[in-house]
Amino acid sequence: MIHSSISPSSFKRAVMCPAFPRLSAGVPESRSDYADEGSCAHVVVDWSIRNNSRTALKPPQSEIGEYARHWKNEMLGHAQVMIDYCWYLFDWYQGKCQMNSEAQVDLSWLYPETWGHVDFDIGMPFGRLHVIDYKYGAGVGVEVEDNPQLMGYAIGKIGPQNPREYSDVEITVVQPRKPHVNGPVRSWVISVPDLFTWAYGTLKPALEATENPNAQPNPGDWCKFCLALKADNPCPGVRALTQSTARTDFATPYTPVDPNSLTPDDIARILDAKAPIEAWLKEVANTAHRQAEKGTVIPGYKLVAGKSNRKWKDPLKVEKDLKTLIGDAVYAERKLKSPAQMEKVLKHHKKPIDSVKAYWEKSEAGTTLVPEKDSRSAIQAPRSPQADFAKPL
Ligand code: SF4
Repeated sequence: MIHSSISPSSFKRAVMCPAFPRLSAGVPESRSDYADEGSCAHVVVDWSIRNNSRTALKPPQSEIGEYARHWKNEMLGHAQVMIDYCWYLFDWYQGKCQMNSEAQVDLSWLYPETWGHVDFDIGMPFGRLHVIDYKYGAGVGVEVEDNPQLMGYAIGKIGPQNPREYSDVEITVVQPRKPHVNGPVRSWVISVPDLFTWAYGTLKPALEATENPNAQPNPGDWCKFCLALKADNPCPGVRALTQSTARTDFATPYTPVDPNSLTPDDIARILDAKAPIEAWLKEVANTAHRQAEKGTVIPGYKLVAGKSNRKWKDPLKVEKDLKTLIGDAVYAERKLKSPAQMEKVLKHHKKPIDSVKAYWEKSEAGTTLVPEKDSRSAIQAPRSPQADFAKPL
């Protein structure tokens, strides 16, 4: 029986698309700058917690290693959100629990060669286990409810021998750089029996289904970062979806359909296809770039030099050395904090946050169309003037 090792970060993709390991087989993992920046940001959290520091610390070169070129001072501020939450939990349990940073979890008892690392965990035996994941990305807000990656970490942390060690698990996403309606720290609780029902009833069969050589691709928002999009023969599922959605085989010049002529069902179908098609288009652009760098001529396109700005090699040394020369002029213009940042500072200084209420206002933000599964409550659509005129008098 052939199986691929599937890490918890790919569990959602495995559950939704059993064909992905087969269609990604042999495609080399390529590291992106975003991924390396995220790894660097994780080292800050891990280093600070391992050193029992309640303040985010800049790790030494020996810890940051190959990620050093991604270091930015702002990583300390973002890491502080995660570190504050970890210490808040430690204090909540009055320091009676063991807290772990970057603990390895083994899931090979559920599916061979499956394991991962939990950013932070802390738990009270026979009580609650907390599993916390630090997300440094600023692009897509990560939802915590039913999150297969974090649920995977939790079952790995509990293990098969001792499912009664905890009564429930609180999984938490800390994502300080991407605004989210539920804030940068959001949690969700699941009982241990429900977690194991999911592990044996959904996850295990899904992982086993990836071994089926006839498993069919199922495109969705889980296609983002799927290696099958980089394969020499890119994922046939996304290709078919793109063609059927655009109603073209790309052989003739494409004339987009007027969106106003689409039915609500057509619109829903196209919106469902947006994420995998966007992921595929991005991979087409990346492939074109890679090929052009190897000398392939892409008709109508050319390579130009990338734009690069100068940056400090060691910002802390610059600050120290140049401050002796020009004092506070080393700093950029001072900027007032946002209401949310100001409230955080007031809270940190144990000052009443109500004192800023009178100073801020919220401008009209309009509405956003989101999938039904989004955690925000639906609102009544505003009536159009046409609908009012259509009313019988
Ligand atoms: S690109 Fe999407 S549909 Fe294709 S294998 Fe990957 S997850 Fe499945």
